[in-house]
Amino acid sequence: MTGVIDLSSGQVIEPLAEPALKALAQTVSGPEVTAYAASCGETGLRSAVAAHYARRVGSDVDPEQITVTAGGRHGLFSVVTASASGGEILVPEPRWSHYPEMLRLAGARPVRVPGDPANGWLPDPDRLEAARNGRTKALVVNSPVNPTGAVYDTGTLAAIRAWCARHGLLLVVDDIYWAYGGEDAGGVRAGPCEAVVGGASKVHALAGLRIGWVWADAPLTAAVRNIVEHTTGPVSTLAQSAVAAVLDRQQDSVPDRARRLAALREHAVRAMSAVPGVSVIVPHGGIYLCLDASGLAKARPEWRDDRVLCAELAEHAGVRLRPGSTFGLPGHVRLCVAAAPGLLSEAADRLSKFLGTAANGTAEKSEGLR
Ligand code: PLP
Repeated sequence: MTGVIDLSSGQVIEPLAEPALKALAQTVSGPEVTAYAASCGETGLRSAVAAHYARRVGSDVDPEQITVTAGGRHGLFSVVTASASGGEILVPEPRWSHYPEMLRLAGARPVRVPGDPANGWLPDPDRLEAARNGRTKALVVNSPVNPTGAVYDTGTLAAIRAWCARHGLLLVVDDIYWAYGGEDAGGVRAGPCEAVVGGASKVHALAGLRIGWVWADAPLTAAVRNIVEHTTGPVSTLAQSAVAAVLDRQQDSVPDRARRLAALREHAVRAMSAVPGVSVIVPHGGIYLCLDASGLAKARPEWRDDRVLCAELAEHAGVRLRPGSTFGLPGHVRLCVAAAPGLLSEAADRLSKFLGTAANGTAEKSEGLR
Protein backbone atom coordinates (compact mmCIF):
# COMPACT_ATOMS: atom_id res chain seq x y z
CA MET A 1 0.00 0.00 0.00
CA THR A 2 1.41 3.38 -0.96
CA GLY A 3 0.58 7.02 -0.28
CA VAL A 4 -0.41 8.68 2.96
CA ILE A 5 -3.23 7.04 4.93
CA ASP A 6 -5.47 9.92 5.93
CA LEU A 7 -7.35 9.22 9.16
CA SER A 8 -7.53 12.88 10.12
CA SER A 9 -11.01 13.84 9.03
CA GLY A 10 -14.34 12.73 10.47
CA GLN A 11 -16.69 11.32 7.93
CA VAL A 12 -18.55 8.13 7.22
CA ILE A 13 -18.56 7.81 3.45
CA GLU A 14 -21.10 5.54 1.77
CA PRO A 15 -22.95 5.53 -1.55
CA LEU A 16 -26.21 7.46 -1.55
CA ALA A 17 -29.13 5.17 -0.66
CA GLU A 18 -31.88 4.40 -3.17
CA PRO A 19 -34.65 6.48 -1.47
CA ALA A 20 -32.36 9.52 -1.46
CA LEU A 21 -31.51 9.06 -5.14
CA LYS A 22 -35.19 8.79 -6.00
CA ALA A 23 -36.08 11.87 -3.94
CA LEU A 24 -33.29 13.83 -5.62
CA ALA A 25 -34.47 12.80 -9.09
CA GLN A 26 -38.04 13.74 -8.23
CA THR A 27 -37.10 17.12 -6.77
CA VAL A 28 -34.72 17.94 -9.59
CA SER A 29 -37.47 17.55 -12.17
CA GLY A 30 -40.06 19.52 -10.17
CA PRO A 31 -40.54 23.23 -9.59
CA GLU A 32 -39.00 23.05 -6.07
CA VAL A 33 -35.50 22.70 -7.45
CA THR A 34 -35.27 26.35 -8.44
CA ALA A 35 -37.55 27.72 -5.74
CA TYR A 36 -36.70 28.79 -2.19
CA ALA A 37 -37.56 26.28 0.49
CA ALA A 38 -39.34 27.49 3.62
CA SER A 39 -36.64 29.19 5.68
CA CYS A 40 -37.41 27.12 8.79
CA GLY A 41 -37.15 23.93 6.68
CA GLU A 42 -39.55 21.96 4.48
CA THR A 43 -42.52 20.43 6.29
CA GLY A 44 -41.59 16.94 5.07
CA LEU A 45 -38.10 17.08 6.57
CA ARG A 46 -39.19 18.75 9.82
CA SER A 47 -41.87 16.07 10.25
CA ALA A 48 -39.30 13.33 9.58
CA VAL A 49 -36.93 14.83 12.17
CA ALA A 50 -39.78 15.18 14.69
CA ALA A 51 -40.74 11.54 14.08
CA HIS A 52 -37.11 10.53 14.63
CA TYR A 53 -37.03 12.20 18.07
CA ALA A 54 -40.53 10.91 18.88
CA ARG A 55 -39.23 7.35 18.34
CA ARG A 56 -36.28 8.02 20.62
CA VAL A 57 -38.17 9.70 23.46
CA GLY A 58 -41.36 7.65 23.19
CA SER A 59 -43.77 10.60 22.94
CA ASP A 60 -44.97 13.00 20.27
CA VAL A 61 -42.66 15.75 19.04
CA ASP A 62 -44.14 18.77 17.27
CA PRO A 63 -42.50 19.52 13.88
CA GLU A 64 -43.03 23.20 14.79
CA GLN A 65 -40.20 22.75 17.32
CA ILE A 66 -37.79 21.68 14.57
CA THR A 67 -35.74 24.10 12.47
CA VAL A 68 -33.62 22.89 9.55
CA THR A 69 -30.14 24.39 9.35
CA ALA A 70 -27.15 24.29 7.02
CA GLY A 71 -25.45 21.41 8.82
CA GLY A 72 -25.28 20.72 12.52
CA ARG A 73 -22.72 23.45 12.90
CA HIS A 74 -25.07 26.21 11.79
CA GLY A 75 -27.65 24.73 14.15
CA LEU A 76 -25.16 25.03 17.02
CA PHE A 77 -24.13 28.52 15.96
CA SER A 78 -27.76 29.65 15.81
CA VAL A 79 -28.66 28.19 19.21
CA VAL A 80 -25.64 29.77 20.86
CA THR A 81 -26.22 33.14 19.20
CA ALA A 82 -29.85 33.06 20.28
CA SER A 83 -29.25 31.97 23.85
CA ALA A 84 -25.82 32.96 25.05
CA SER A 85 -24.53 35.92 23.07
CA GLY A 86 -22.86 38.32 25.50
CA GLY A 87 -22.51 35.61 28.14
CA GLU A 88 -20.32 32.62 28.90
CA ILE A 89 -20.73 29.02 27.82
CA LEU A 90 -19.19 26.10 29.63
CA VAL A 91 -17.38 23.72 27.32
CA PRO A 92 -16.21 20.41 28.78
CA GLU A 93 -12.82 19.42 27.39
CA PRO A 94 -11.80 17.48 25.34
CA ARG A 95 -14.31 18.85 22.82
CA TRP A 96 -14.91 19.30 19.11
CA SER A 97 -12.24 21.55 17.62
CA HIS A 98 -14.75 24.08 16.27
CA TYR A 99 -16.57 24.95 19.50
CA PRO A 100 -14.34 27.73 20.89
CA GLU A 101 -14.19 29.80 17.70
CA MET A 102 -17.84 29.10 16.85
CA LEU A 103 -18.92 30.32 20.28
CA ARG A 104 -16.75 33.43 20.02
CA LEU A 105 -18.22 34.23 16.60
CA ALA A 106 -21.66 33.82 18.16
CA GLY A 107 -20.70 36.53 20.67
CA ALA A 108 -20.25 34.20 23.65
CA ARG A 109 -17.17 33.50 25.75
CA PRO A 110 -16.23 29.80 25.84
CA VAL A 111 -15.13 28.69 29.30
CA ARG A 112 -13.19 25.46 29.32
CA VAL A 113 -14.03 22.83 31.91
CA PRO A 114 -11.30 20.18 31.94
CA GLY A 115 -12.62 16.63 31.77
CA ASP A 116 -11.57 14.08 34.34
CA PRO A 117 -9.25 11.37 32.91
CA ALA A 118 -10.34 9.10 35.76
CA ASN A 119 -13.94 9.48 34.56
CA GLY A 120 -13.31 8.79 30.86
CA TRP A 121 -12.63 12.53 30.38
CA LEU A 122 -16.24 13.42 31.11
CA PRO A 123 -16.86 16.59 33.13
CA ASP A 124 -16.97 16.28 36.87
CA PRO A 125 -20.05 18.10 38.34
CA ASP A 126 -17.80 19.90 40.84
CA ARG A 127 -15.68 21.27 38.02
CA LEU A 128 -18.78 22.46 36.19
CA GLU A 129 -20.01 24.20 39.33
CA ALA A 130 -16.60 25.78 39.90
CA ALA A 131 -16.66 27.23 36.37
CA ARG A 132 -20.16 28.72 36.72
CA ASN A 133 -20.70 32.38 37.54
CA GLY A 134 -23.33 35.08 37.04
CA ARG A 135 -22.44 35.43 33.36
CA THR A 136 -22.82 31.73 32.56
CA LYS A 137 -25.70 31.16 30.19
CA ALA A 138 -25.26 27.69 28.75
CA LEU A 139 -23.35 24.43 28.72
CA VAL A 140 -22.64 22.45 25.58
CA VAL A 141 -22.27 18.69 25.74
CA ASN A 142 -21.59 16.31 22.90
CA SER A 143 -22.13 12.58 23.21
CA PRO A 144 -20.43 10.43 22.04
CA VAL A 145 -17.64 12.92 22.48
CA ASN A 146 -15.55 13.98 19.53
CA PRO A 147 -12.61 13.22 20.01
CA THR A 148 -12.49 10.70 22.91
CA GLY A 149 -15.54 8.57 22.17
CA ALA A 150 -16.70 8.97 25.79
CA VAL A 151 -20.45 8.53 26.16
CA TYR A 152 -22.63 10.36 28.67
CA ASP A 153 -24.74 7.70 30.35
CA THR A 154 -28.35 8.46 31.19
CA GLY A 155 -27.61 9.16 34.86
CA THR A 156 -24.81 11.62 34.14
CA LEU A 157 -26.86 13.50 31.58
CA ALA A 158 -29.86 13.60 33.93
CA ALA A 159 -27.67 15.05 36.70
CA ILE A 160 -26.28 17.69 34.32
CA ARG A 161 -29.79 18.47 33.09
CA ALA A 162 -31.01 18.98 36.65
CA TRP A 163 -27.99 21.16 37.47
CA CYS A 164 -28.65 23.34 34.39
CA ALA A 165 -32.34 23.67 35.29
CA ARG A 166 -31.42 24.62 38.89
CA HIS A 167 -29.24 27.47 37.66
CA GLY A 168 -31.34 28.54 34.66
CA LEU A 169 -28.67 27.50 32.15
CA LEU A 170 -29.44 26.20 28.68
CA LEU A 171 -28.11 22.69 28.10
CA VAL A 172 -27.13 22.45 24.44
CA VAL A 173 -26.90 18.78 23.46
CA ASP A 174 -24.82 18.17 20.36
CA ASP A 175 -26.46 14.95 19.23
CA ILE A 176 -24.67 14.57 15.91
CA TYR A 177 -23.22 11.08 16.72
CA TRP A 178 -26.23 9.85 18.73
CA ALA A 179 -26.60 6.35 17.22
CA TYR A 180 -22.95 5.52 17.80
CA GLY A 181 -23.24 5.64 21.57
CA GLY A 182 -24.59 2.24 22.52
CA GLU A 183 -27.57 1.36 24.66
CA ASP A 184 -27.04 3.68 27.60
CA ALA A 185 -26.42 6.86 25.62
CA GLY A 186 -27.90 9.79 27.50
CA GLY A 187 -31.39 10.46 26.14
CA VAL A 188 -32.44 13.81 24.74
CA ARG A 189 -35.36 16.19 25.01
CA ALA A 190 -36.07 19.81 24.22
CA GLY A 191 -37.45 22.14 26.85
CA PRO A 192 -37.02 25.52 28.49
CA CYS A 193 -33.53 24.53 29.61
CA GLU A 194 -32.49 22.20 26.80
CA ALA A 195 -31.94 22.34 23.06
CA VAL A 196 -30.89 19.45 20.86
CA VAL A 197 -28.80 19.91 17.74
CA GLY A 198 -28.54 17.07 15.24
CA GLY A 199 -27.93 16.42 11.60
CA ALA A 200 -27.54 13.95 8.78
CA SER A 201 -23.75 14.12 8.39
CA LYS A 202 -22.54 11.33 10.64
CA VAL A 203 -25.30 8.91 11.58
CA HIS A 204 -26.82 8.96 8.09
CA ALA A 205 -23.45 9.30 6.31
CA LEU A 206 -24.68 12.35 4.36
CA ALA A 207 -22.08 15.00 5.27
CA GLY A 208 -22.03 16.49 1.78
CA LEU A 209 -25.73 17.34 1.83
CA ARG A 210 -25.17 19.84 4.67
CA ILE A 211 -28.37 19.23 6.58
CA GLY A 212 -28.65 19.83 10.31
CA TRP A 213 -31.46 20.77 12.64
CA VAL A 214 -32.39 22.23 16.00
CA TRP A 215 -35.07 20.85 18.31
CA ALA A 216 -36.02 23.49 20.85
CA ASP A 217 -38.99 24.93 22.71
CA ALA A 218 -41.14 27.61 21.08
CA PRO A 219 -39.28 30.77 22.23
CA LEU A 220 -35.84 29.43 21.32
CA THR A 221 -37.19 28.02 18.05
CA ALA A 222 -38.48 31.49 17.12
CA ALA A 223 -35.08 33.03 17.86
CA VAL A 224 -33.21 30.29 15.96
CA ARG A 225 -35.52 30.66 12.96
CA ASN A 226 -34.90 34.40 12.96
CA ILE A 227 -31.14 33.81 12.81
CA VAL A 228 -31.45 31.19 10.07
CA GLU A 229 -33.73 33.44 8.02
CA HIS A 230 -31.26 36.32 8.17
CA THR A 231 -28.04 34.37 7.72
CA THR A 232 -28.09 31.27 5.51
CA GLY A 233 -31.76 31.58 4.60
CA PRO A 234 -33.48 28.39 3.45
CA VAL A 235 -31.38 25.28 2.99
CA SER A 236 -31.24 23.54 -0.42
CA THR A 237 -34.53 21.93 -1.44
CA LEU A 238 -32.61 19.08 -3.06
CA ALA A 239 -30.68 18.21 0.07
CA GLN A 240 -33.79 18.48 2.24
CA SER A 241 -35.77 16.08 0.06
CA ALA A 242 -32.95 13.52 0.07
CA VAL A 243 -32.53 13.63 3.85
CA ALA A 244 -36.30 13.46 4.43
CA ALA A 245 -36.42 10.32 2.27
CA VAL A 246 -33.56 8.75 4.22
CA LEU A 247 -35.14 9.58 7.59
CA ASP A 248 -38.51 8.24 6.44
CA ARG A 249 -37.38 5.11 4.63
CA GLN A 250 -33.84 4.25 5.70
CA GLN A 251 -34.14 4.04 9.47
CA ASP A 252 -33.00 0.41 9.38
CA SER A 253 -29.65 1.41 7.97
CA VAL A 254 -28.77 3.28 11.17
CA PRO A 255 -28.40 0.30 13.56
CA ASP A 256 -26.48 -1.59 10.85
CA ARG A 257 -24.12 1.32 10.37
CA ALA A 258 -23.74 1.70 14.14
CA ARG A 259 -22.78 -1.99 14.41
CA ARG A 260 -20.22 -1.59 11.62
CA LEU A 261 -18.73 1.44 13.35
CA ALA A 262 -18.59 -0.40 16.69
CA ALA A 263 -16.68 -3.24 14.99
CA LEU A 264 -14.30 -0.72 13.43
CA ARG A 265 -13.71 0.93 16.81
CA GLU A 266 -12.81 -2.46 18.27
CA HIS A 267 -10.57 -3.27 15.36
CA ALA A 268 -8.81 0.09 15.64
CA VAL A 269 -8.33 -0.37 19.40
CA ARG A 270 -6.73 -3.78 18.83
CA ALA A 271 -4.51 -2.54 16.00
CA MET A 272 -3.39 0.66 17.73
CA SER A 273 -2.73 -1.09 21.05
CA ALA A 274 0.28 -2.69 19.38
CA VAL A 275 1.88 0.66 18.51
CA PRO A 276 4.89 1.29 20.77
CA GLY A 277 5.13 4.42 22.90
CA VAL A 278 1.44 5.35 22.81
CA SER A 279 -1.61 4.19 24.73
CA VAL A 280 -5.17 3.94 23.48
CA ILE A 281 -8.06 5.78 25.12
CA VAL A 282 -10.71 3.15 24.52
CA PRO A 283 -13.74 4.84 22.93
CA HIS A 284 -17.23 3.80 24.04
CA GLY A 285 -18.88 5.31 21.00
CA GLY A 286 -18.44 7.67 18.08
CA ILE A 287 -16.15 7.38 15.09
CA TYR A 288 -12.82 8.37 16.62
CA LEU A 289 -10.08 7.00 18.76
CA CYS A 290 -7.43 8.96 20.67
CA LEU A 291 -3.91 7.86 21.43
CA ASP A 292 -2.02 9.24 24.39
CA ALA A 293 1.31 10.12 22.80
CA SER A 294 2.75 12.15 25.68
CA GLY A 295 5.32 9.44 26.49
CA LEU A 296 6.96 9.89 23.09
CA ALA A 297 8.44 13.20 24.23
CA LYS A 298 10.98 11.21 26.29
CA ALA A 299 12.58 10.00 23.06
CA ARG A 300 11.93 13.16 21.02
CA PRO A 301 11.28 16.31 23.12
CA GLU A 302 9.94 18.19 20.08
CA TRP A 303 7.04 15.71 20.01
CA ARG A 304 5.74 17.29 23.19
CA ASP A 305 3.97 19.49 20.62
CA ASP A 306 1.40 17.15 19.07
CA ARG A 307 1.24 19.35 15.95
CA VAL A 308 4.91 18.64 15.28
CA LEU A 309 4.30 14.96 15.97
CA CYS A 310 1.37 14.80 13.52
CA ALA A 311 3.34 16.62 10.83
CA GLU A 312 6.17 14.10 11.20
CA LEU A 313 3.81 11.13 11.25
CA ALA A 314 2.24 12.33 7.99
CA GLU A 315 5.58 13.00 6.35
CA HIS A 316 7.66 10.08 7.58
CA ALA A 317 5.23 7.36 8.68
CA GLY A 318 2.65 8.04 5.98
CA VAL A 319 -0.26 8.35 8.41
CA ARG A 320 -2.20 11.60 8.78
CA LEU A 321 -3.78 12.13 12.21
CA ARG A 322 -5.19 15.16 14.05
CA PRO A 323 -3.29 16.79 16.93
CA GLY A 324 -5.14 16.37 20.23
CA SER A 325 -4.45 19.99 21.15
CA THR A 326 -7.02 21.11 18.57
CA PHE A 327 -9.57 19.30 20.77
CA GLY A 328 -8.24 20.54 24.11
CA LEU A 329 -6.36 17.26 24.57
CA PRO A 330 -2.66 18.10 24.20
CA GLY A 331 -0.15 15.27 24.01
CA HIS A 332 -2.64 13.09 22.14
CA VAL A 333 -3.54 12.34 18.55
CA ARG A 334 -6.97 11.54 17.10
CA LEU A 335 -7.79 9.17 14.30
CA CYS A 336 -11.07 8.41 12.56
CA VAL A 337 -12.05 4.73 12.64
CA ALA A 338 -14.54 5.03 9.76
CA ALA A 339 -12.10 3.45 7.33
CA ALA A 340 -11.51 0.00 5.87
CA PRO A 341 -10.14 -2.43 8.52
CA GLY A 342 -7.13 -3.14 6.29
CA LEU A 343 -6.31 0.55 6.18
CA LEU A 344 -6.52 0.84 9.96
CA SER A 345 -4.20 -2.18 10.32
CA GLU A 346 -1.77 -0.76 7.79
CA ALA A 347 -1.80 2.59 9.59
CA ALA A 348 -1.00 0.83 12.87
CA ASP A 349 1.85 -1.07 11.20
CA ARG A 350 3.30 2.12 9.75
CA LEU A 351 3.06 3.91 13.09
CA SER A 352 4.68 0.93 14.86
CA LYS A 353 7.53 0.82 12.41
CA PHE A 354 8.18 4.54 12.51
CA LEU A 355 7.72 5.06 16.24
CA GLY A 356 9.69 1.90 17.03
CA THR A 357 12.72 3.20 15.16
CA ALA A 358 12.16 6.84 16.19
CA ALA A 359 12.23 5.86 19.84
CA ASN A 360 15.72 4.50 19.20
CA GLY A 361 16.70 7.73 17.47
CA THR A 362 16.73 6.14 14.02
CA ALA A 363 13.48 7.42 12.51
CA GLU A 364 13.25 6.54 8.86
CA LYS A 365 10.77 7.15 6.13
CA SER A 366 8.67 4.01 5.86
CA GLU A 367 8.96 1.89 2.75
CA GLY A 368 6.44 2.21 0.00
CA LEU A 369 5.69 5.86 0.65
CA ARG A 370 5.58 8.35 -2.13
N1 PLP B 1 -20.68 18.44 16.27
C1 PLP B 1 -19.60 17.66 16.29
C2 PLP B 1 -19.10 17.16 17.60
C3 PLP B 1 -18.94 17.32 15.11
O1 PLP B 1 -17.86 16.52 15.15
C4 PLP B 1 -19.44 17.83 13.89
C5 PLP B 1 -18.74 17.55 12.63
O2 PLP B 1 -17.64 17.08 12.58
C6 PLP B 1 -20.58 18.64 13.92
C7 PLP B 1 -21.18 18.93 15.14
C8 PLP B 1 -21.19 19.28 12.70
O3 PLP B 1 -21.57 18.44 11.71
P1 PLP B 1 -22.23 19.00 10.36
O4 PLP B 1 -22.07 20.48 10.31
O5 PLP B 1 -21.51 18.28 9.27
O6 PLP B 1 -23.67 18.60 10.44
